[in-house]
Amino acid sequence: MENRHTSNESSPIWHSINAEEALQQLESSAEGLSTQESQARLEKYGSNRLQQEQGRSWYQRLLDQFNNILMMILLVAALASFLLGHTIDAVAIISVVVIIALIGFIQEGKAEQALESIRNMLSPQANVLRDGKRTTISAEDVVPGDIVIIESGDRVPADLRLIEARRFRTEEAALTGESVPVEKHIDSVESDADLAERHSMAFASTIVVQGNARGLVVETGQHTEIGKISELLRGVETIKTPLLKQLDRAGRVLAIFILGAATFTALFGTIIHGQPPSEMFMAAVGLAVAAIPEGLPAIVTIGLALGVQSMARHNAIIRRLPAVETLGSISTIFSDKTGTLTRNEMTAQSLWLGDEQYRVDGIGFAPDGDFHYIQRDGKQDTHSVDIEQDKTLRDFLEVGVLCNDSELTQEKGHYYIQGDPTEGALVVAAAKVGVDAHKLRKHHKRLDAIPFESEHKYMATLHSSNDNQRILVKGAPDRLLEMCSTENSVNDDIKIDHNKWEERIHELSSQGLRVLAIADKLTSDVDKLEHHDAENGLRLLGIIGLLDPPRDEAVKAVKLCQQAGIRPVMITGDHASTALAIAKQLGFSHTEKALTGREVEGMSDKELEDIILDIDVFARASPEHKLRLVQAMQARGGVCSMTGDGVNDGPALKRADVGVAMGIQGTEAAKDASEMVLADDNFATIVRAVEEGRKVYDNIRKTITFILPTNGAQGLAIMLAVLSGSILPITPLQALWVNMVVAITLGLALAFEDGEKDLMQRAPRDPKAPLLDLFLLWRVVFVSILLLVGVFSMFTWLLNQGGSEDLARAGAVNMLVTGSAAYLINSRFLINSTLSISGIFGSRPVWISIALIMLLQCAFTYVPFMQFIFGSEALSLTHWLAILLGSILIYLIIEAEKFLWSRYESRKN
Ligand code: ATP
Repeated sequence: MENRHTSNESSPIWHSINAEEALQQLESSAEGLSTQESQARLEKYGSNRLQQEQGRSWYQRLLDQFNNILMMILLVAALASFLLGHTIDAVAIISVVVIIALIGFIQEGKAEQALESIRNMLSPQANVLRDGKRTTISAEDVVPGDIVIIESGDRVPADLRLIEARRFRTEEAALTGESVPVEKHIDSVESDADLAERHSMAFASTIVVQGNARGLVVETGQHTEIGKISELLRGVETIKTPLLKQLDRAGRVLAIFILGAATFTALFGTIIHGQPPSEMFMAAVGLAVAAIPEGLPAIVTIGLALGVQSMARHNAIIRRLPAVETLGSISTIFSDKTGTLTRNEMTAQSLWLGDEQYRVDGIGFAPDGDFHYIQRDGKQDTHSVDIEQDKTLRDFLEVGVLCNDSELTQEKGHYYIQGDPTEGALVVAAAKVGVDAHKLRKHHKRLDAIPFESEHKYMATLHSSNDNQRILVKGAPDRLLEMCSTENSVNDDIKIDHNKWEERIHELSSQGLRVLAIADKLTSDVDKLEHHDAENGLRLLGIIGLLDPPRDEAVKAVKLCQQAGIRPVMITGDHASTALAIAKQLGFSHTEKALTGREVEGMSDKELEDIILDIDVFARASPEHKLRLVQAMQARGGVCSMTGDGVNDGPALKRADVGVAMGIQGTEAAKDASEMVLADDNFATIVRAVEEGRKVYDNIRKTITFILPTNGAQGLAIMLAVLSGSILPITPLQALWVNMVVAITLGLALAFEDGEKDLMQRAPRDPKAPLLDLFLLWRVVFVSILLLVGVFSMFTWLLNQGGSEDLARAGAVNMLVTGSAAYLINSRFLINSTLSISGIFGSRPVWISIALIMLLQCAFTYVPFMQFIFGSEALSLTHWLAILLGSILIYLIIEAEKFLWSRYESRKN
């Protein structure tokens, strides 16, 4: 990028010169660049990328590992040990602290990398003209001179001098901080105009909120206006989630508690037992070291990162880490219908024109299939249609193709739709009777158009027709009926019969068909189409019903939701009858009544809250209704996810607990406002992500419940020894060793656990519930005591047998670690029993980490160097047998506790 020209010295002032001049300056044209030229320019100017703000540097990340109160205590302890002459202890504490910090550092690094690579999956695209054709490329490959086509919802990929703009407005908050959209046009402005007043420009990173435009790329990458203001760049997201923050807070409380206990113990030993203060100080250090779960934060981070990666493999891309936790407590999934719950493969099935009803054969986008009559002149008739004889049908289908932006293409024998599948279905239907869209569109040039938007629910185009102009409109039938005054009849136009058409619309939509109406109007004095030109005096030509079947996987996912206590709710722009019919096919619970957007508008917030739990289908709804629905559901205590694809979905996506944007159909604006993006636009993917979220949360709870008792037992062992005036069964150094090996082996295993069988059979988690409820706190205390008993029993037994203190401690440490390993198997399921082959042996990570920790313990027990540092001694086979028996006993006692607990729970319910 270094050889890039700079706009300041040599470039023209783009906003003040006219469009032609700008094109000339950059040696481009309205047809854009050739592929070859764009390649050359890419090399010359470099890629269109903003220099990402660097994340924390590696040493900052490493230092941050020490930046928590528990690590601080350890460092102070090391210093004090050194001052008191316990050099070996001091060095060993420091080494272990460094090792633990390194583990945290590496794991956090992996987590950050995983998140970054997932974020790259969302790299934006741009539509440009290359060799005169519209092509979608990565926004990074846009070069000066390119012609970019942008429309509502897009993010502007580079600084553009506009050369065409239609009702074009952008939101420039990213650049100017001003959130009111700015109207743009192609006329040049004063050369000294402020950034906010350069209406002939669209700036990189701003969002198009309305209309469409073409623009000449004048600056890319760092040279764009946004590139110049580097502070505004998106920084790397910190990976502190609410859960991690909660852990931090818990860590501080724990630290105070541990420090209190350590001080009390040291004072007690010095005053009551008359022990030397320096030794008691070391005991207090030991207690702190033993009781602090140093490895925990890193393990929780890695658990979250694993969840993010697994979700990405299943097409759910997490944009903000806290969403992983929130997903687990989702109780309502608001979902769009078309394309998310259904396949978005529209096929025309049924038509009504005048008094003729038709059926269309064929499914999918292949233009094969015939038209048949169902009714003709009010009577049943099943002849196939001779298109040469049926001019009305041909004209209807042609209008459907003209008032339409989609294209049917064929590649290797497969047919694809480029553009909106609803429109594609009309092109396919017309192709079935031989209408060639290309030729037709060339022949009937379009003079102007109002694109389809969910708010207005119709699209209109203007064409010249002999000496006049013809406005063609297609859209939601109930909307179009309001705009039509006549209907097409055999001989002449007649006054429209609303009742008749409403019946027909109802008939088609109750079969689950999406219905479109098509209308036209002749006019003579319009050259720029405005809404008021199209909204009255139309002539209805007919209606057409499109089939869009539910996705098979959505049907399964809806069922899964119901088992999991999650409510799927459909929000659609379609007709209520269509929506209800599809909801029935999907297996929704409440399919008797749908509420329409208008009805929602007529309700107060309170009224909406009152009914929100009884309605599963919202029809003819627009993006603004979504926000109110989310708010109402949240007011009733729901945790909601909401899907969206357009700019106007932004507020609802932001307000929802988890905003979900469509990856394929969604606009950049929608993705920006969301926590999660669906790579496949599929409802089933959301449900999968919820399942994964529940699993991650479960695993984190399991990990914490698993790790704490090891610390608890060690802390208690040291405390009890001092209080009773006996020798320590575990030295501070040994405690550090145990913490370290447990953190790098056993502690990690549970993050890899699969979800439990009943994961999607329980009700969603209450988001306000504490991480460790009473039951888990009890488990932590219970197991701490159990391990403590194990440690003391082993220690006393070995001493009584005449073993040395070192031998007895080696036995105690091994008992603690092996007992913890046994408890790891218990912890695979928090309440369910693990007493089965799959319960005990079902998890590879668990057994790999048990094998690893046993290897480490052998080193601890038998390697001379380790014996020297940690003061351990070799154990005999009998000792190991005793340790094994002790561990099995611990495992069985905890299983018994689980059994009793679940009996108690089931009695309570
Ligand atoms: P969902 O919310 O299920 O995804 P949607 O948001 O796609 O549905 P809209 O796009 O708002 O729903 O469509 C609402 C209605 O507008 C449709 O029922 C149809 O009658 C009409 N419609 C949809 N697409 C077009 C289009 N391209 N041109 C004209 N009318 C359309």
